[in-house]
Order: sequence, then C-alpha cells, then structure tokens
Amino acid sequence: LTVLGLESSCDDTGAAVVRLSGDTGGSILSNVVYGQAELHRDFGGVVPEIAARAHTSKLDLAVRAALTEAGTSLAGIDAIAVTAGPGLIGGVMAGVMCAKGLAAATGLPLIGVNHLAGHALTPRLTDGLTYPYLMLLVSGGHCQFLIARGPDSFARLGGTIDDAPGEAFDKAARLLGLPQPGGPAVERAALDGDPKSFRLPRPLLDRSGCDMSFSGLKTALLRARNTLIADQGGLFRQDVADLCAAFQSSVCDVLAEKTRRALAEYMVLNPTQPALAVAGGVAANNAIRAVLETVSSDAGAQFCAPPLALCTDNAAMIAYAGGELFRSGHIDDMTLTPRPRWPLDRSSPAMLGSGK
Ligand code: ATP
Ligand code: FE
Repeated sequence: LTVLGLESSCDDTGAAVVRLSGDTGGSILSNVVYGQAELHRDFGGVVPEIAARAHTSKLDLAVRAALTEAGTSLAGIDAIAVTAGPGLIGGVMAGVMCAKGLAAATGLPLIGVNHLAGHALTPRLTDGLTYPYLMLLVSGGHCQFLIARGPDSFARLGGTIDDAPGEAFDKAARLLGLPQPGGPAVERAALDGDPKSFRLPRPLLDRSGCDMSFSGLKTALLRARNTLIADQGGLFRQDVADLCAAFQSSVCDVLAEKTRRALAEYMVLNPTQPALAVAGGVAANNAIRAVLETVSSDAGAQFCAPPLALCTDNAAMIAYAGGELFRSGHIDDMTLTPRPRWPLDRSSPAMLGSGK
C-alpha cells in the first residue's frame, strides 16, 4: 500500500510517499518539508494568513518533489492522505483542497487524517510498535497521555490544563531574546547553564493524576528575568544559559513524574509488553528524552522515540496514519471538512492547549 501524504496545519508544508508493510511499520520513500520559519521570524510567531498563503503556493511543488524523490508518479499511488485538522484553519484548508483536487483528478481514495494521530502513530512507522502502547504527545500545541489502541482508537489519561510545553519553550525563548522556534534555542543555551541557579516551580506535582500545567512556569521565568534586569540593568549570557537550564529541568521533572504515573496507570490496564512512545516537536529535546527513557526503564517498559526529523511536523506521519486508516476500511469523500479543533479522544472534553 503506497500512500501520498500532505501536511499543512502549521508552518511546515509537507508531502511524502510512504509504503506500508505488514501489520505495523513502513518505509518512507520520500519526505519533503518546506519550512516557513523565515517568513514568520520578524513577527515572533506564526502568522496564520502568511502561513496559509505560503502553503497554497508550495503544496503542489512539495507533491511533485515527493513523487520524484520516491521515483514514482500519481499512477504509483494507492491513496491520498491529508491533515484535516487540528491546526491553523487556513493552512488545513489549503492542504485539504489540494488533496481533493488530486483525488478528483486521479480517482484515488481520499483520507482525512487527524494531525495528532499522525504524531501518535509515528512510533509504528519508525519502530514497528504494536498496539496498545502509551503515548506522550508533547508538541507546540499539545501535551497529553494517550493509550493508542488503533489508528482511530485513543484513550486520554491526562494532559496539560493550560499551555503546551513547546509553547512554553517558545515563550521562554522570546523572554530571553533567543530565536524561534524556541525549543532548540533554549536547549542549546541550557547546555552552558546550571539548572540549580534558579529555583523554578514544578506545577501540579502535588496533585494526583496525570494532568500538567506549564503556564505558571513561564510566569516564574518572567519574574526571575525581571529581577535580574532590575538588579543588574540587563541579562548576561550566563544568566540566559542558567535560566534556560532551570526552565528545562523544571519541564523535565514535571514530564518525568507525570509519565511515571501515566505508565503505572497504563500498566494496570495493559500489564503485558508495556511500551512508552513519545512524539511531537518537544520530543526532539535530548534532556527530555533522557528522563523519559529512565522512567520507562525503571518501570520495565520499552521506550520508543522516533528520529528527530519525524518528531516535528512532516507528511510521512500523515501518509502512514492515512494508510493505517485506509487499511482498516476508513475512506473520506469530497465532503471532507477541515477542522480547526479535533480531539483525538472524542469521548473526552475538547483538548486544551494553545489556541494555535
Ligand atoms: P501541534 O503538533 O500540537 O499542532 P506544532 O505542530 O507547532 O503543534 P510540532 O511541530 O510538533 O508542534 O513541534 C514544534 C514545537 O516543538 C515548537 O514549540 C518547538 O519549540 C518545540 N521544539 C522543537 N525542538 C525542541 C527541542 N529541542 N526542545 C524543546 N522543544 C522543542
Ligand atoms: Fe505537530
């Protein structure tokens, strides 16, 4: 089964060709990503209008590049998968329209994919993980624990009640004069810092369950920064490094403790072959990966973290998730509607996170 996938829900225009094999896993024949970082840099964040226009002008080029790189053409494709939400609606619409056009012209089946399912199924694509597994989805707009039982079957154990960690990393970088996206910049700066130089809070650790909070951490960082500026008239390079290290260590501690609880809860329900997988852009952070790996091995669970390039937004994960949905009998038609919000676990209240 060879699937062409399209992704355009935020600031990356992606097209990819993925071949699914067996029950789980697949090979990525091409994975083209056109980033838009430089278009948004001067604005300090993604501007939805600019993003949508850039997707519109780049999607067909991305599709052509993905087909060429895969050494195939539309004639070699079995289905077209596209991110149908959640995300910035203009970008999602651009992708869905492009996919509908391709499906109408070729007669190929069209499959609308939840962007978060794309992230959540990535460990199956890369490592051939089998269902069920516990998933920590930690990205720019989301943070939640999910039990993945099938391509369209997820149960939510808990998540952030306010900001997502990626958003907090981005805001931290902005406060400290570091470039966007903030996660990689903060991680780099933290390498030269002392995490113990500032004591930042570990929100919600005193509360039971798997819910998390990151907005107070950001406020605490702002306060520490302002105190330094008031005292010394500005921030030294070492201050920035120390603040980044303290911030990152706080995020690590919160994620580690909540993951420990989520794994314990998961293992009561699924005692055999426990596995923890991480996905989403923040899973690219090496310090976070390291603590999660320790938590997994302490619990006797397999740990699976996809390669960095497949943790951030890409179309290979959409092609793969679309392939799994198609194989399980799911297919959309021209009524497929782009959705700005689309909870993975429909029985739960709408997912909290940024308004992105
Ligand atoms: P969502 O998938 O929830 O809609 P998104 O598409 O913006 O959100 P991703 O592309 O999965 O999110 O991830 C981008 C986020 O990951 C950004 O907030 C970025 O700062 C963060 N990020 C990327 N690399 C790192 C890193 N090394 N450390 C921490 N955060 C990181
Ligand atoms: Fe994403």
